[in-house]
Amino acid sequence: MIKSLKSTGHELADSAFQLTVLRQEVVDTLRLPPFHEKLRGAGLFPLVPVAPGVLQINVGKMCNQVCRHCHVDAGPDRKEIMTRQTMQYCLDALAQTDIPVVDLTGGAPEMNPDFRWFVEEISKLGRKVLVRCNLTIIVANKKYYDLPEFFRLHNVEVVSSLPFYSAAKTDSQRGDGVFEDSVRALKMLNAVGYGQEGSGLVLNLVFNPSGAFLPGGQKGLQDQFKRVLLKDHGIVFNELFAITNIPVSRYLDYLIESGNYAGYMEKLVTAFNPAAAAGVMCRTTISVGWDGGLYDCDFNQMLDLHVASPIQHIRDFDAAALSQRAIVVNQHCYGCTAGAGSSCGGTVA
Ligand code: SF4
Ligand code: SF4
Repeated sequence: MIKSLKSTGHELADSAFQLTVLRQEVVDTLRLPPFHEKLRGAGLFPLVPVAPGVLQINVGKMCNQVCRHCHVDAGPDRKEIMTRQTMQYCLDALAQTDIPVVDLTGGAPEMNPDFRWFVEEISKLGRKVLVRCNLTIIVANKKYYDLPEFFRLHNVEVVSSLPFYSAAKTDSQRGDGVFEDSVRALKMLNAVGYGQEGSGLVLNLVFNPSGAFLPGGQKGLQDQFKRVLLKDHGIVFNELFAITNIPVSRYLDYLIESGNYAGYMEKLVTAFNPAAAAGVMCRTTISVGWDGGLYDCDFNQMLDLHVASPIQHIRDFDAAALSQRAIVVNQHCYGCTAGAGSSCGGTVA
C-alpha cells in the first residue's frame, strides 16, 4: 500500500524542498534552462492572465485512493479539507463575477462533508459544475452509491482519471482493484445517462502516462479507449483528455526514485511548444486551496506558490486586481508546455 509523502515524513512532502530540486539548473550534467527564459524567448514573459473562465476549487486533500503519481499527495490520512465558511467565501466571490465554470477537485471532493451543499449552491448561481471524480469513491461506501444520480440532478460534468483500459496498468498506478471498481462506477454513471448520446450528461476521462514519458496523441488514445471500453465492458464516455504528468509531489518522487528525473525534464524542455505555452490553463483559471488561499493553478498550489497579487485569499476576492497579476512560473511548468501541451482539459495546442 502506497502512503502519502506527508505520512512517511518524506522530504518531498515539503514544498520548499520540491522547489529546491526543481530549481537545479544542472542535473546529471544536463542544463535545464529556467522556464521563464523559454517563455521570454517565445515573447510570453511575463505570462499574464486573460478573462477567467474557470474557478478551480480544491476542497481538500482527503482521498480514498493513494495513487503513485498524485501531485496533491492525497490519501485517507490527509485531513486538510475546506470548511463551509470558506466555501461561502467562494460563493460570494462567484456572485460578483460571471465566471461560468466551477471545477471541483481534491483529493476526492465528494469526501468533503459539505460537498453536496456546495454543488447545490454553485448551481443556484447558474454556474456549470465540473467534478473531478476518481470513480472508485462511487463504490467505496453505500453513502456514495447515489452520487451518479446526484450528479445527474445538478447536470454536473464528470471528469475521471482512468490511466488505461486494462487492469494491470491502471492498478499499478492507482492501486489494487482500482480498475475493477472504476468499471463498476462507470457503468453506474452510464446507467443514469452519463456519456450517452443525446443525454447532455458529460462524462470525460483522463489519461496520463504510467511512466516517465509524454502522452501519445489525444485523438488516437480516445478512439482506442472508446473501442476497448465498449467492447469489453459496454462503457461509453464523451471525450478523453490526455495529460502530461507534472513533476510535482509523488510524481516527482517517482521520477527521482526511478532515476528518470533528468531524462524526463530533458524530454519536457526539448518538447517546449510556444503555442502550448500561449494556451496554458493558468491564463484562464483561478485556483483556490482548501484553506481559501489563491493560486494560478493546482500545481502551484501544491508547491505553495501563491498568486503574485495583494489579493491572497478568496474572502478578499477582487477580479480586477487579480487580472493585473503576472502568473508565477517555475520548472514544473515545462509539463504544461511540452508537445501538444497539457491542462485539466487535455491538450491545448
Ligand atoms: S490522483 Fe486523485 S484519486 Fe489518486 S490519490 Fe490523488 S487525488 Fe486521490
Ligand atoms: S504549472 Fe500551473 S502555472 Fe505553470 S504553466 Fe502549468 S498551469 Fe501555468
